[in-house]
Amino acid sequence: MIGRKKLVIEPAWCKGCGICAAFCPKQVLEIQKEKVTVKDPEACILCGMCELRCPDYAIYLVNLEE
Ligand code: SF4
Ligand code: SF4
Repeated sequence: MIGRKKLVIEPAWCKGCGICAAFCPKQVLEIQKEKVTVKDPEACILCGMCELRCPDYAIYLVNLEE
């Protein structure tokens, strides 16, 4: 299972700015009540753009082991 990843959100760190959602190429993310939410998990291509653009480290990819 090399290279499998998962998207993680830290709601406590998210200020709901919407930058991640704006840069997501697949429209996976949506802001609800000033927090980012995953609207369409199936569409996520794990590209990491959201992680790259979030100024607060509130969304990121982690490697899944085994
Ligand atoms: S990893 Fe890419 S496709 Fe998935 S939510 Fe982030 S920006 Fe969108
Ligand atoms: S860019 Fe970061 S702080 Fe802004 S909405 Fe997305 S996860 Fe939250």
